[in-house]
Amino acid sequence: MRALVFNQSLSYQPRHPDPASSLGDTLIRVRQAGICATDLEITKGYMGFTGVLGHEFVGEVVSSSDKDLVSQRVVGEINVVCGRCDLCQSGLSNHCRNRSVLGILKHDGAFAEFIRLPAMNLHVVPKSVDDDAAVFVEPLAAAFQVLKQIKLDGRKWVTVLGDGRLGLLVAQVLRNVDCPVRVIGKHPDKLAICEKWGIRSRPLADINPRHDQDVVIDCTGSASGFEMAMAMVRPRGTIVLKSTAAQGKPLNLAPLVIDEINVIGSRCGPFREALRALAEKSVDVVSLINRRMRLEQGVEAIEYAGRPGVLKVLLTID
Ligand SMILES: [Zn+2]
Ligand SMILES: [Zn+2]
Repeated sequence: MRALVFNQSLSYQPRHPDPASSLGDTLIRVRQAGICATDLEITKGYMGFTGVLGHEFVGEVVSSSDKDLVSQRVVGEINVVCGRCDLCQSGLSNHCRNRSVLGILKHDGAFAEFIRLPAMNLHVVPKSVDDDAAVFVEPLAAAFQVLKQIKLDGRKWVTVLGDGRLGLLVAQVLRNVDCPVRVIGKHPDKLAICEKWGIRSRPLADINPRHDQDVVIDCTGSASGFEMAMAMVRPRGTIVLKSTAAQGKPLNLAPLVIDEINVIGSRCGPFREALRALAEKSVDVVSLINRRMRLEQGVEAIEYAGRPGVLKVLLTID
């Protein structure tokens, strides 16, 4: 099959082996995939992953142990879990001790003609959600995870730091629950999208951090973003950390102690809620698509997705 493979460097492989049957009982033909910050981090060495990249996808089931899935259009949860370890048994299967993760950890990903996943990972996509929107289910679910982890009732000062792909999804999810969210970012065109959505925004350059925010959600993907979050959050406030940056820099964590700040790491989230939001059109993802490219152009597409200011780049697999 055709695939975009990372093995120390990134290359397009026209004759890559099909995914091994050990990777799951369901074979899926990928229709479209999205490039995300994690893919860019992996090409810089994050997770030490080698194999087919990509974890945001929509595809069509070719064969499965679950006959009801065959020929259905699906999206897939990316954590492949054992179901037996202590974390799986206690309902924390996203943290399974034996997990593999599609396109991130020991499991070939979605920038390819075919992938395999267990049937239990898959969700059928309703007709009202087209392929462009379906590719956003995984990152949108990660945005919904913020609502699962913190109580926003009565929090008046809530900031999303970072106007990238994930920040703009988180901002919409918070707005939809009437949270008075504001976005701080570096890109005037992205902040203009926020204004279009009725979400307040401010350029980073105008911000004078004053330790006055109840909640800061760091979607910057950089260590300096976390420093900014520590300077903005009020004593006993909460920082939700959505960034996984491969290239660290020394961080002074003393402000966390002095201001008694809660820091919450946040990763994958509920697919069902993301699918429902896309079906109801309560979240706009079309405005986030910058460019569509073909799988064959994958190396160029990853490079393009890493340019400053670029939001979502989609890979079409035909
Ligand atoms: Zn992602
Ligand atoms: Zn497990």
